[in-house]
Amino acid sequence: MTITTRFAPSPTGYLHVGGARTALFSWLYARKSGGQFILRIEDTDLERSTQESVNAILEGMAWLGLDYDLGPFYQTHHFDRYKEIIQQLIAQGDAYYCYCSKDELEQLRTEQMANKEKPRYNGKCRDAQVVELDRQPVIRFKNPVDGVVTIPDLVKGDIVVANKELDDLIIARGDGTPTYNLTVVVDDMDMKVTHVIRGDDHINNTPRQMNILNALGAELPKYAHLPMILGADGARLSKRHGAVSVMQFRDEGYLPEALLNYLVRLGWSHGDQEIFSLDEMVEYFELADVNVSASTFNMEKLLWLNHHYIMTAEPEHVARHLSWHMGQLELDLSAGPALVDVVKIQRERSKTLVEMAAASVYFYKEFESYDEKAVKKNFSVGTDQVLSCLHEQLLTVADWKAEFVHEVIVQLAESLSLNMGKVAQPLRVAVCGCAVSPAIDMTLELLGQKKTLARVERAIAYIKTLN
Ligand code: GLU
Repeated sequence: MTITTRFAPSPTGYLHVGGARTALFSWLYARKSGGQFILRIEDTDLERSTQESVNAILEGMAWLGLDYDLGPFYQTHHFDRYKEIIQQLIAQGDAYYCYCSKDELEQLRTEQMANKEKPRYNGKCRDAQVVELDRQPVIRFKNPVDGVVTIPDLVKGDIVVANKELDDLIIARGDGTPTYNLTVVVDDMDMKVTHVIRGDDHINNTPRQMNILNALGAELPKYAHLPMILGADGARLSKRHGAVSVMQFRDEGYLPEALLNYLVRLGWSHGDQEIFSLDEMVEYFELADVNVSASTFNMEKLLWLNHHYIMTAEPEHVARHLSWHMGQLELDLSAGPALVDVVKIQRERSKTLVEMAAASVYFYKEFESYDEKAVKKNFSVGTDQVLSCLHEQLLTVADWKAEFVHEVIVQLAESLSLNMGKVAQPLRVAVCGCAVSPAIDMTLELLGQKKTLARVERAIAYIKTLN
């Protein structure tokens, strides 16, 4: 039997990190078992589903590198099949038309609440052979009345629910459209899903779905319900805690492997290992090691992981992702050094790619103004002369490499009896516009001789205006 898992998002918003973690765990389980992973878009709620959201899901999956073997399937393409199953359930006596009106149901609910009973459908139409032609009936599943359903949950252990707690679920609305629990069951059955891995907000649906599957004579999948993700304040992770959409993490400068590594540890552990390559995740992942209780999202840790991957990933890989951010800043990458070289000198000081991009603008574009503080601290009377001497020397460098640039700076500092900082800092402000950059010799090498000289000239002229 091929292990088959699926990720089944409803396209009603962005791809939330909680959803991404569900997708990751399902993907990992399929990959580690040599099975298959399905992407299924649950778009039957026509009012709330949008193409934009479908795109966001596909984009998020692609950015994370979570590839699927089958799909994306769209539930809206399966309406005929759902109808067929609904009719089958009616024919075999496992479903029935219910003509109870909204008002009637509301009244029932009010009475039950007043009697301190749990609100549930009373089964009025269950055995009554009523046909009211002037009213569109809904269709309800005939849930067993006795016994219990035991969910053998791979994360939480057995969860036992008494059938008397479950009322007869609506599987088709008055307009004939199927409801969530029915469509999920039909697709999981048809797609031969062996492991349903999803958020624990679905636990309430599971016994109902198991009962429908039983009525259809289908084999039951195994279930693994993943605990919630909380914000630092203990509330369910949401927008007000910061970034929650996968693409927002991209926008904020995270590498997909950092987010994946963060998400895998959020609710799963393998000893006390923190850093996992994708291969290691696939090798070590076990549903049995998923935490039972909720986990708290920790931005600091994600940032730490991001820096780790920026430092250790192949520079070419980081450069590919950085180029997207440079594009956001509308920089012309052909106007400066190879991005991979920029990555190599910037990565130590950059925790995110947004930081790295912002700190690398001067390689590709003239800056418009000097940082005020940097000017105050490093451009003073006489600095123009230091820069003039530097200009003279830099002009003579035949082989524009960091080591030769370095020599020029050291020698000039010596000959003027200045410490290195007094030469290197004004030079840095002159070429970068600010007081922070990677090692000045490497910065100059990447910037190139022509641009360096032009910027030093510009700074000399600027300093003169200060006096
Ligand atoms: N479409 C459901 C959701 O987005 C998930 C269904 C499932 O995983 O069974 O919450």
